[in-house]
Amino acid sequence: MSPNTVATAAPWLGVPADHPFGIATLPYGVFTTTDLPDRRRIGVRIGDRVLDLRAAVEAAGAPAADLHPLVAGPTLAAMLAAAPSDWARLRAWITTQLGDDKARGLVEPFLLGCSEVTLLLPVEIGDYVDYYASAHHGSNVGKIFRPESPALPVNWKHLPIGYHGRSGTVVVTGTDFHRPSGQRKGPQDPAPVFGPSIRLDIEAELGYLVGGATRLGQRLSVDDAGSRLFGVVILNDWSARDIQAWEYVPLGPYLGKSFCTSISGWVTPLAALDAAHIELPRDGDDPEVLPYLRGTGTSPTGSGGTAYGLDVHVEVRVNGTVVARPEYRDMYWSPAQMLAHMTVNGASVRPGDLFGSGTISGPEKGQRGSLLELSWGGSEPFALDDGSSRTYLLDGDEVVMTAWAPGPGGSRVGLGEVAGRVLPTA
Ligand code: CA
Repeated sequence: MSPNTVATAAPWLGVPADHPFGIATLPYGVFTTTDLPDRRRIGVRIGDRVLDLRAAVEAAGAPAADLHPLVAGPTLAAMLAAAPSDWARLRAWITTQLGDDKARGLVEPFLLGCSEVTLLLPVEIGDYVDYYASAHHGSNVGKIFRPESPALPVNWKHLPIGYHGRSGTVVVTGTDFHRPSGQRKGPQDPAPVFGPSIRLDIEAELGYLVGGATRLGQRLSVDDAGSRLFGVVILNDWSARDIQAWEYVPLGPYLGKSFCTSISGWVTPLAALDAAHIELPRDGDDPEVLPYLRGTGTSPTGSGGTAYGLDVHVEVRVNGTVVARPEYRDMYWSPAQMLAHMTVNGASVRPGDLFGSGTISGPEKGQRGSLLELSWGGSEPFALDDGSSRTYLLDGDEVVMTAWAPGPGGSRVGLGEVAGRVLPTA
């Protein structure tokens, strides 16, 4: 195939060229079906169908036998632990099978409809870190929470700020959760009170699943990090702002964020986002970053080369109303820089570690990825299509985040969706 030829799904599959889950996307997920609820299987999505990968690889026999360990299941753990060359080999095999009408006999028996499967957490999440990589989000939060201080902390453009979160409460799309309770104390309150959060919020983010392991003491460079980033999920970092505001000084987020973090069930391989690479936003006033945050071909301020941004377009809906369209191109730090920073002190990583980008917010009001920013600290309610208004979430509210990126030859790469609903306090 010449470099200018764009692969398309085999005609018999009937996947339109502009489908966000065409052959350029091919995300992985773990699913069950109602007839086999205990059998967790790895699937790859094509159009509105899911290919049972293990079954297809087994049917292919000896020529695909070396791929079997990657797709045997019951989670993506073995795939994440494998080498990037294995990831490429598996993706190439799938692309061939789904791009060739002659493979119909092999593939067709193992295709299910998306509506027939229930997506599960794709892998047991190892360590979970959440970053804070949007300058617009950081400065908006600074203005709302700390109006007397500079909007961005002095360290912000020198290192990607993050905190360690709670991996055991990372859940897959479709998982509803109870409104958290906790302590809160407003500036004018004489004493803290306990009760259900009254400022329950969202944060629209991308999450990165790490592949491969490192030893204690081993650092990953920005260049190395690129090959350790297996895939991307959409991530909703549910946040209780009232709990957070009272507890976060001086050690950062704790119970205001640890009750639930939702991710999409489909994991988009980084390889599907090659056409979405862009330079990070930098201007002449931005400081040089330390050498460990630069990759090959990276400018002194840390953009370009292996420190690339991603042109991902995100949409956030509350009860069906689009409330924000954040642009990932506005993020200051690249995923490779974030992974390099995570290991620069010698901390090891394991397959299945997850890190979030931080809330994706842009310069425009309609690009703010949290309700805290959309309602400006609760002072500016926004309208939903049903005539109601919101500052923060009410019980019963459902939040759905979707995203897409440019693919090869003008195609679109869809990033699945992450949905969740707020239940009353348990
Ligand atoms: Ca966050």
